[in-house]
Amino acid sequence: MANHLKALLEDIKTGHRMSKAEALDLFRVRDRQVWEIAAAADEVREDRVGNAVTYVRNQNINVTNLCVNSCGFCGFSKKPGDNGIYFHDKSEIQKKSALAKNRNVSEICTVSGLHPDFDTESYCEVYRWIHEAAPGVHLHASNPMEVAYAAKKSGLGTREVLTAMKEAGLGSMCGTAAEILVDTVRKKICPQKVSTDEWVRIIREAHGMGIPTTATIMYGHCESDEDRVQHLAILREIQDDTRGFTEFVPLSFIHMNTPLYHAGIARAGATGREDLLMVSVSRLFLDNFQNIQVSWVKEGIKMAQLSLIAGANDLGGTMFEESISKGAGALNTDYLDPAEMQRVAEDIGRTLRRRTTLYELI
Ligand code: SF4
Repeated sequence: MANHLKALLEDIKTGHRMSKAEALDLFRVRDRQVWEIAAAADEVREDRVGNAVTYVRNQNINVTNLCVNSCGFCGFSKKPGDNGIYFHDKSEIQKKSALAKNRNVSEICTVSGLHPDFDTESYCEVYRWIHEAAPGVHLHASNPMEVAYAAKKSGLGTREVLTAMKEAGLGSMCGTAAEILVDTVRKKICPQKVSTDEWVRIIREAHGMGIPTTATIMYGHCESDEDRVQHLAILREIQDDTRGFTEFVPLSFIHMNTPLYHAGIARAGATGREDLLMVSVSRLFLDNFQNIQVSWVKEGIKMAQLSLIAGANDLGGTMFEESISKGAGALNTDYLDPAEMQRVAEDIGRTLRRRTTLYELI
């Protein structure tokens, strides 16, 4: 394996497109060769996007945590009658949006629970409120699950929902709700969510309409290495056709407060080796993606820094307010000061650069 691995990494660095079998081999490495994979991914990162470490000044606004779905990995959602339900009305959303604008954010991100009373107009209304209170801010919102839900609740097609959302000010869509794009896994972890085919269809629709999206994976629960590879292959194929993904964001499963972990279906999250390899193998496999983001919210800042020398080039957002990972049991998820981002970037000889949602440097 040692010589085979070296030869493979050399080939990839000179443009060889990895096969699924090769990606699987890399995910299975357990010894010091992990560092060789990380080093190759770091070289590819440098060639593709240079040495800047980027970040976006953003703020999350979760409108409600009430949700009709019951995903096994979710520690955020509430059911009617639960303690701790919240629902932000127009005035609260506009207050948060105005505060975000005052904090000089360039992006407001909003994804919420699937509220029983929401339909397409409910989402569009929220987008208009945000734009009213924070003019000029880029709205990064919704995901294929919300689009499918809005379509169902309004008796519309998903394309019509996306059109309405775009008209209401949607700038780009979140590529969340992807989890693992393998239906046998989805049946275990999120049986009520859109299927793989539906997720792919809605993402392709969005890209076709000029709505860029991110791409994500949520790993470290009950998926196999083969499932991870299949997921990456689906993303690479979409990107070949649409070029609509702005970035890939691996999301490490936060297990503590989740039904999936308590029921013994999921393991206690990914290990450090798995976190590092997820970044590195993604960088090497996704040869048509410019940006690989590491989530400091999921990984913590120390692991995030190591990921920046293992293939990642982006640290994501400042956040200011975060409740999804916090709900699942993660700590310190609310805000990361750019000064701290700068400290970790400079510590590895790189420069921190602020960017917009669509990766224009500011
Ligand atoms: S992950 Fe999203 S859709 Fe699933 S239960 Fe949580 S809030 Fe609802």
